[in-house]
Parts: sequence; C-alpha cells; structure tokens
Amino acid sequence: MHIPLDRHSVIPLYLQIEETLRCAILDGSLKEGDKLPSTRMLAAELAVSRLTVENAYGELAAKGFLQARRGSGAYVCHPYAPPAPPAAEQTALFPVDPFTTGASRLDGQADSPLPPDVINFAAGVGNPRIFPQEAFRKVMHSVLRRHAEEAFHYGDYCGYYPLRDTLARILSLQGIPARPEQILITNGSQQALSLVSHTLLRPGDTVLVEEPTYAEALTLFELQGVRTVPIPCDADGLCVDALPALLAAHRPALIYTIPNFHNPTGRCLSEPRRRQLVKLAEAAGVTLLEDDFVGDLRYQGAALPSLRSLAAGGGVIYVGTFSKMLMPSIRIGYLVADAALYPRLAQRKHLDSFTTSSLLQRSLDAFVTVGSYQRQLQRACRLYRQLRDVAADALARHLPPGCRVELPEGGLFLWVQLPPDIPVSRLMPLAWQQNVTFARGACFYRNNPQAEFTLRLNFSAQTPERTVIGIERLARAMTLCRAQTAERATLINPE
Ligand code: PMP
Repeated sequence: MHIPLDRHSVIPLYLQIEETLRCAILDGSLKEGDKLPSTRMLAAELAVSRLTVENAYGELAAKGFLQARRGSGAYVCHPYAPPAPPAAEQTALFPVDPFTTGASRLDGQADSPLPPDVINFAAGVGNPRIFPQEAFRKVMHSVLRRHAEEAFHYGDYCGYYPLRDTLARILSLQGIPARPEQILITNGSQQALSLVSHTLLRPGDTVLVEEPTYAEALTLFELQGVRTVPIPCDADGLCVDALPALLAAHRPALIYTIPNFHNPTGRCLSEPRRRQLVKLAEAAGVTLLEDDFVGDLRYQGAALPSLRSLAAGGGVIYVGTFSKMLMPSIRIGYLVADAALYPRLAQRKHLDSFTTSSLLQRSLDAFVTVGSYQRQLQRACRLYRQLRDVAADALARHLPPGCRVELPEGGLFLWVQLPPDIPVSRLMPLAWQQNVTFARGACFYRNNPQAEFTLRLNFSAQTPERTVIGIERLARAMTLCRAQTAERATLINPE
C-alpha cells in the first residue's frame, strides 16, 4: 500500500501515516480483520523510525480503527457499521425547486470591505486579522503535495469521509452523538439551512422562528413561500410557554432556532427551556432546526446541552459551520440528521452543488487533526472576549442615557435597545455621516414596530482602538439623533 509522506510538512509523519491508513479503512481499501504490516516492516518500507509507526498505530487504536493482538500483530477494525447501501426509492431523483436569490436584508454589503475610514460593526464574521493564514497555507501545501489528484476531484457528495469522521468525534466529545454517516458537509451552514428548507418545506407551510432571528434565514423561508410565525423571546431565549398555543394554532412544519449566542441578540436559550422545547417539539411531531453557528465561541459560563443531544427520537437537525470559528471563505459547514431525512438532504445537496471543495475539506481535516483548529479557537476566544469587554465598557461610558446593552457570554454580537427618541432609521444616516455603521434591528424582524429601536453590533472584527473610536462615533450619532427628535417635537408642538 502506498503511503505518501511529506517530510517538510507541518503535519508530523506519524499523523500522515495515520491519516492514510484511516482513509484506507474508511473507504474500504483496508477491511475489518486485515492484518497491518509489523511496525518494523512498515518503518523500513517508509524509511521512518519504528517509533513513528508505533505512534501512528497508537493513534489509530485510540480512535478505534486498530486492534493490537498480543503476539500476533495489529488488525484493522471499523468503529462504525459499514455505510448501508442506499434503498431503491432513495436513489430516485429529487425534484429541484426553482431557486432565486433575493437581496440581502442587511444594509449594503455587511461582510464586504467598506472604505477604511468607516468602522463597520455590521459584519457577521470574526476578526480577519487572526484568520490562521500561515498554518492553513502549510496544510494546503501538504495536501497538494501528497494528495493533489484526489484533492482536485469532485469527491463524495456527502463530504470527505475522514472529515465527517473527525467531525463526528468532535461532536461526540461535546455530547452530540453523531456518526459520519449522519453528517453532510455543506457549502457553509447557509447551504445546510437552504437544503433543509427546500427538502422539508413546501410553499404555504409554516415555520416557527425566534423574533428577532437571523436575517438570511427569514429571507430564505420567505423566498420559498413559507410563512414565518414569530416566537416571542426574552433574555433566556425563546419563550417556551408561548409554544403550545403557537403549535396548536399554526401546525408548523419546522421550528428554526439559534440556541447559542443567538444572531442578532447574542442570548443563549436556558437549559430548562431547551429541555422543554425538545419535549414540546417531539410531542407535536415537529422537526427542530438547530443552528449552532458560533457554538464554540464561549468566553464565560458553562456550555449548555445542544438540542440534538437532548432529543432521544432524533427530531433535531443540527447545523454547524467553520465560518465564524475559523474563516468564512473556506465555505465549510455541515448538518447532522438521522436516517429518515439524511438521504433526501444528501440528494438535494448533490443536485444543488454536487460537492464541497475536496481540496478545502482535506485541508480542513488536516488542520483539525494536527490540533491547529483547537489552538485557533483558543486564540479567537481570548481575543473576542477582550474585544467584547472593550466594546461593553465603551458603550457603558459613551452611549446616551436610555440605551440598553446586553452582554453575551460568547459569539460575535452585542444587542442594543434604543430609547423612543432614537429611532434607528434616523440614526443610520447620521451614523454613516460619522463614518460608523451597524446592522439595523429591522433586518432581523419580519414586521414588528419594536425593530425600529434595536441594533446589532459586531464586537469581534475591529482592533480595540477602532472599537472605542467606532463607539464614540456611534454615541455622537445618537446624541445628534436625539437632538433632531427634540427639534422635530418643538416644530410640531411649539409652546
Ligand atoms: N446561521 C447564522 C445564524 C448566521 O449568522 C450565518 C452567517 N452569518 C449562517 C448561518 C451562515 O453562515 P455560513 O454559510 O458562512 O456558515
């Protein structure tokens, strides 16, 4: 068996050997019960030390891919049942609904570069300055040196199996039981949301959504002719007490929720509410779509159980992404679904975009496997926590009286509630004049007058200095807005 090695790679040799053997086991080239060469033989063949091969075997054994039999050698085992062949009806082509993209609900292009003198608090991403360019370049080079041919293919439309296997491990460690066969790699989690929406919903169906909620999910449902019904929310997330009446009145096909560091509010759904939500959805037979877009970016407080981990019956589709924790341009997200839905979602993915870049999936798998992802995550959490505190402190010092700011335990966003004399539609142009911008609350509501007095600030994307300057500008715009409101009031009601 050919084991390509890159002796200049950042990936240690033992992990390169482990990866090739793991892939061979996962793709069936090495079968359950096959005997692996002795460590002495393989070391001689690869011209590496025996310790290197022993470490590679040790890694495989720890992951459950290898069993050492005393005095006999090392044997392959597969930690999962082999993937089931697709049932006949699942192979029928799934009809493609017409798909049109609508304009972003966000003002302008929130995630595109703005002129450098504008301080942009509207973006929905982490800090580009800490995206791990160098470490990622190295793993990409290594993948290209060792696996260029495979990396340039379409690859498996469900996703690169070793990456799904790695994700299954990470999720299982977080208490979310997942097998690689339940994981579908998508082009960002936006595609996962779109696949779920187009697979499960028909025009005229109803989806229950938090109010406010992620702007592009709202637009996605709207474009498909799906009715969104708001669930009221407070500081502990969606109000489960309101659910029984909403479920009875609207008979929704889906509940869409962002339980961790919600977009736009940054709030977390409390644990008792999580349990209650799962119970109610299960009793009503409604699928839950759990969007965990920044779940790993927690800066304080204990992690809360995911809805999927609480649902015994598998009625939760879990969606994750590397866009915020790592970088958005790799466009790698994923969903976890059970056998009843997975084949339909996978077929839709195939028809939607065939595959997600093999090159990037392989690079990401290597990046995670060598521990770079965990290091990056720790770096991001340290920096974003500091930036959150800088922003919260500046807001407390500079915003005019009457503004309310919520401090999130993680994620990317601060949610600001404005007093009645600072309506956001009049604040926005004044903020632009001060060279600062933010996301209007109205982007995240379907139709609610409260939206006019809310805004979302991304605290992760600027330097601490620019964060403070931006908040000072915003505060100036607010003071101007308040003065304008007072002036209008005296024009309308002169004394
Ligand atoms: N879910 C939420 C709540 C988001 O805010 C976003 C993007 N901002 C996404 C999903 C989609 O992100 P991506 O496709 O980059 O994973």
